[in-house]
Amino acid sequence: MKRNNLQVMMRLIGLVKPLTGYMLLAILMGLVGHLCAAFITIMGGVAVLQLLGLYSKITLGIIFTCLILFAVVRGFLRYAEQSCNHFIAFKLLALLRDKVFTALRRLTPAKLEGKDKGNLISIITSDIELLEVFYAHTISPICIAALFTVVMVLFIGSYHWALGLLALAAYVTVGVIVPVITSKMSGANGINFRTQSGELAGFVLDSLRGLPEILQYGQGEKRVQQMNEMTENLSVQEKRMKRMSNGNIAVTNLVILVFDIAMLFAATQLCEFEGVLIPTLALMSSFGPVVALAALGATLQNTFAAGNRVLDILDETPVVEEITGKEEITFAGAQAKNITFSYGDETILTDLSVEIPQNEIVGIVGKSGSGKSTLLKLFMRFWQVQKGEIRISGRSVDDINTTNLRNMESFVTQETYLFDDTIRNNLRVAKWDATDEEIVAACKKASVHEFIQKLPQGYDTQVGELGDSLSGGERQRLGLARAFLHDAPFLLLDEPTSNLDSLNEAVILKSLHEECEDKTVVLVSHRKSTMGIADRVYSVEQGRNS
Ligand code: ATP
Ligand code: MG
Repeated sequence: MKRNNLQVMMRLIGLVKPLTGYMLLAILMGLVGHLCAAFITIMGGVAVLQLLGLYSKITLGIIFTCLILFAVVRGFLRYAEQSCNHFIAFKLLALLRDKVFTALRRLTPAKLEGKDKGNLISIITSDIELLEVFYAHTISPICIAALFTVVMVLFIGSYHWALGLLALAAYVTVGVIVPVITSKMSGANGINFRTQSGELAGFVLDSLRGLPEILQYGQGEKRVQQMNEMTENLSVQEKRMKRMSNGNIAVTNLVILVFDIAMLFAATQLCEFEGVLIPTLALMSSFGPVVALAALGATLQNTFAAGNRVLDILDETPVVEEITGKEEITFAGAQAKNITFSYGDETILTDLSVEIPQNEIVGIVGKSGSGKSTLLKLFMRFWQVQKGEIRISGRSVDDINTTNLRNMESFVTQETYLFDDTIRNNLRVAKWDATDEEIVAACKKASVHEFIQKLPQGYDTQVGELGDSLSGGERQRLGLARAFLHDAPFLLLDEPTSNLDSLNEAVILKSLHEECEDKTVVLVSHRKSTMGIADRVYSVEQGRNS
């Protein structure tokens, strides 16, 4: 989505409302601190005038007391402002992560199917960290500079209004015009940099996942080369950004010098000696806050790019909304009624109807790609049908609380995902408070208990990170054990025995048959043998009933 920089900034500020109080405090401390610093120099000028006998409104004693006071206050505020900023940064990270994860939770699982996961990871990690910098080191400098400018312009203007205007022009040029121009010039760099680093993250992740294939087909060299090219591009991009920001600093310093000289010249034309020295000193010693803004120019686009990516996730409408607040129901059969479904443009299922009566085993057959897995996902309401209705107990799934729906269903996918944890904990995913007896019983039904017992640490054996250490059949049986443990009335089994030998398949079909006296099962399979236990069989060809 396209947003302009101001919109991004306002949205980002809106996100952190709970921290407004702390941010105001940090801004106030920063403002007073900078004023103290500027007035130390100005007081020095006053002291010189006093010594020369040109100024007599306040005594030298008062001047020195002020100097010491300003120095102490400045030191203290600097420390206090820093710790306040650290506190804000810390809270901010937590707040932003919470928002992004909540959004992701809404968007899954459709969001994670096929989308570029590396990019998502770089948003969750580096973009959010960059935004923390935005809040702690961008917003507050901008506010401080604005307020500081007002005070200094009034002060200098008190000597002559024209000098005040000149000071205003100086601050605006250094703090706004120069940074805006440089940020425009570096605009695309920041966005490219973020996108490319996201792509690199994705590429590395992908390479790790596909390591066996890379080795098998001798693609290692090529992958490393591609990775090097991407890294090289990134560093070129980064160097360009560095160069920009160095050039930026030089320009800023030049502009400041020009304005200092202009102030000196104008003041000599307009004022007496006091009115020359003090405004000139005041201007020279007061560029700190606006220079801080100038330094932001080059990184600002980068920050906006990160902000945009995070906002994109926050704004994305989920494929399906979570449903709450409906009346709880119990399972009494399911039905797909004249449904039509497509992922984007490609229509997968057309006017399909399937009847799944309570306590029956319904088989679904069909060739690869005909939409069998898709149908199961629709019963899970991972996606929304475009036409027709998916019903559970006679009620549309759009009218059933999502938690209620998921509690009624056990979904065993074609690929069982195993977490990098013990076997026991991997099974507990299906039921957190399962007792050891329940776990063993479920594993026996899934014909995997004996296998687990033979492992070095039995149920406490760690599964490798990507579950690579287990065979396809073993993973499949663990997936089934999860489903048995979840103990829902409605089982959706996607090719549960495709990787099993006939002996293990027979055990599982037998458990399904016995276990599922009081359960309803949808069984997707290619195999005739598997369909033997089905009470009725639907064939889905090209997404239609056939
Ligand atoms: P198999 O027997 O090989 O498991 P299937 O019958 O289960 O096949 P589905 O997985 O339902 O088939 O896929 C049906 C079609 O939808 C396929 O052409 C597939 O490429 C496409 N498809 C699946 N998931 C998505 C998705 N998230 N986005 C876009 N297209 C998808
Ligand atoms: Mg499938």
